[in-house]
Amino acid sequence: MVRQERGRARAGIGKNPVRARDHNRRVILDLLRQHGPLGRKELAEALRLTGPAVVNILDELLAERLILDLGRKREGRGQPAILFGLNPEGAHTFGFEIGVKGIATVVLDLLGRPIEQSRSQPASLSPEDCLAHLAAEIARIGAGLSGALLGIGVVMPGPFLPAASAGSDPATLPGWENITPACLSAALGHPVRMENDANAAALSEALFGVGAKARDIALIYFGEGIGLGTLSAGRLLRGTRGNAGEIGHIVIAPGGRACSCGQNGCLERYVSRHAMAEALGIALTPGTVSRLWAEGDPRLLGWLAEAGQRLAPVVAMIENMFDPETIVIGGQLPGPVIDALIAAVPLQPSVAALPERRLPRLQRGQDGAFTAALGAAALPFYDALTPEAGEGAGDGS
Ligand SMILES: [Zn+2]
Repeated sequence: MVRQERGRARAGIGKNPVRARDHNRRVILDLLRQHGPLGRKELAEALRLTGPAVVNILDELLAERLILDLGRKREGRGQPAILFGLNPEGAHTFGFEIGVKGIATVVLDLLGRPIEQSRSQPASLSPEDCLAHLAAEIARIGAGLSGALLGIGVVMPGPFLPAASAGSDPATLPGWENITPACLSAALGHPVRMENDANAAALSEALFGVGAKARDIALIYFGEGIGLGTLSAGRLLRGTRGNAGEIGHIVIAPGGRACSCGQNGCLERYVSRHAMAEALGIALTPGTVSRLWAEGDPRLLGWLAEAGQRLAPVVAMIENMFDPETIVIGGQLPGPVIDALIAAVPLQPSVAALPERRLPRLQRGQDGAFTAALGAAALPFYDALTPEAGEGAGDGS
């Protein structure tokens, strides 16, 4: 029996037959990705469909080269089943992370394996220039791929706010306030999902990192600011407008440093790459932090010590609010610097302070440079698992 939860396989279908068929196609693709090759009977059981209904969908997927007929496999007695598996080259997804430092691109094959990872610079970070750049990247990379483009994920720093309330936060992108997934889909000619960078990174961690060991994960993400992505029982907590986990503007030092949001003492003013650059008194270019770490720069070590202290109450708060199995720290900091930050956090009492823990309370995530872009490329896959996840702000179809 496959592990797909039956209720979830049927969720959000409604009475629209076209939508139901599309949903069932995606569930079949996801089952094959998670479990490897399966027979018609197992798929019919998992989707609670009749045999002929499943055969119709399988025929379609075969014709589109998304799946392969792997032949009969004899197991025990009786008629051997024909197994169907994903065709890795049958389709791919694009993921883009748009940040103040440029664009990271990841392409995943149908098995969810990265087949391209690159960084590039658009002419500017305006929506017009970025969209032209993304379209050119899709054309350039797509020219070498034979399969279909399944979907596109775009991530950028949050929070997503209406233009009227967006401040001059150095971590967010100016000019993007009114850009919706529908705008992106129209400009790129394919369905686009949007997510903030911390949520996408958490999704990436769930699919490619610590997620193999845990389904309740919180990820503290260092982009230009600092964000939190939380998965509860494998589901992303997005909130009403996709802004859940905007921890950067939690006040941790009342009366402290002034923040662009109008408050004083926000976490982001102490614990973020931006705050680190301030403490170092220099602009961070690629390789700067690694070099300063290797040199044992006292300003960097001083920042780490203070950042660890400032982060401690927020770690306990996350543990008490979401009770994750582990909190992962990841993003755009060198691995050894993240390790040093984790070592500098004096862990406080919380519901996570248990003697028989399976996973550490804090741990380092995957290599950070492409984490959010990986998560972006995984968004079209993730939507197949939890169709209702994309029906809010992220629905670009
Ligand atoms: Zn603030």
